[in-house]
Amino acid sequence: MSPLAWLMLLLLSACGSAKEVVDMRDAPSARPHETLNAAVWMQLSAEYEASAIQAYNTALDHLSSALADSSWSAIPNATAHERKPPAIIVDVDETVLDNSPFEARMIRGDTVYNRPAWNAWVEERKAEAVPGALRFLNAAAELGVTVFYVTNRSSDLDAATTDNLRSEGFPLPEGPDQVLTRGERDEWTGDKATRRDHVATDYRVLFLAGDDLNDFVSTEDLSTEERSDLVVRYEDFWGERWIMLPNPTYGSWERTINREAEARYRSDRIRAKIGALRAED
Ligand SMILES: [Mg+2]
Repeated sequence: MSPLAWLMLLLLSACGSAKEVVDMRDAPSARPHETLNAAVWMQLSAEYEASAIQAYNTALDHLSSALADSSWSAIPNATAHERKPPAIIVDVDETVLDNSPFEARMIRGDTVYNRPAWNAWVEERKAEAVPGALRFLNAAAELGVTVFYVTNRSSDLDAATTDNLRSEGFPLPEGPDQVLTRGERDEWTGDKATRRDHVATDYRVLFLAGDDLNDFVSTEDLSTEERSDLVVRYEDFWGERWIMLPNPTYGSWERTINREAEARYRSDRIRAKIGALRAED
C-alpha cells in the first residue's frame, strides 16, 4: 500500500470514530433511565444472584438452631412465644418474587412506577422466584414452619399474588390466610408492624426476610440518618434472624431521600440524589 493510501485510510478511520461519538451522543441512551444500572445488575449480574443465595443460605444455616431454641424470636421484645408453633415472615416483592421484568418495561418505556402498569404486571402472575428463596422456605416448611407473606401489594392483588407464589412452588397450602396484603384489614397499613404483631400473636417468628428496612422495623417519617441508627441498633439481628435481600432499584431508602429534598418530579429526584451524595469536597 502506498503512503498516500495509508494516509487516506487513516483519515477515513478517524472520521469514522468521530461520527461514532456524535451518533452516541444523539442516541436516546445518552439520557439513561434513573434505575437502568440497578435493574441491569439485578437482572443480569452473577453478583446479584450470589448475594440473594448468600442471604438465604445464611437463614438456612440458622434454621435448626432457631427451631431447637424455644427462646429464639425475630420479633424484638416478643413475650410468651416459647410454646407457640414456628413461623417465618417474608416480604414478597424483591424478596421472594423478582419483578425485574416490570422494571425493564418502565425503563424501555421511559416511565416510572404507576399503579395501572404495576397492577397489570401483577395480574399476569409472571414473576419468578428470587434465587435461594424456594430452597430455604421449602426446607423450613418441610420442618413444620408456617410461612407468612407480608406484602404491601394492595388487597385487590391478593389472588394474583397467591397464584404466582404457588405456581413458582412456594409453600402456601390451602387453609388459613398466609398472604397478608396491605388494606386487607383496616389496621394493615403500609407500616407492616401490625401484620408482624398479628402473626406473632399465634406463632413464634423465627426469621424476617425482606429487601426494605420497613420489612423489619417501622421506619415511617424517619430520616436517612435515623434509618442508619436503627440498623446499628439491631446489629445482632442481621444475618441471624433478620435476612436482608439486595434491591438497589427502589425502596423506602429512595423515598426518604426524595422526601428530605422535597423532590416530586423525576428531574428533581435525580438532582436530589446527586445532592445527597457524599463527595468530601
Ligand atoms: Mg419488597
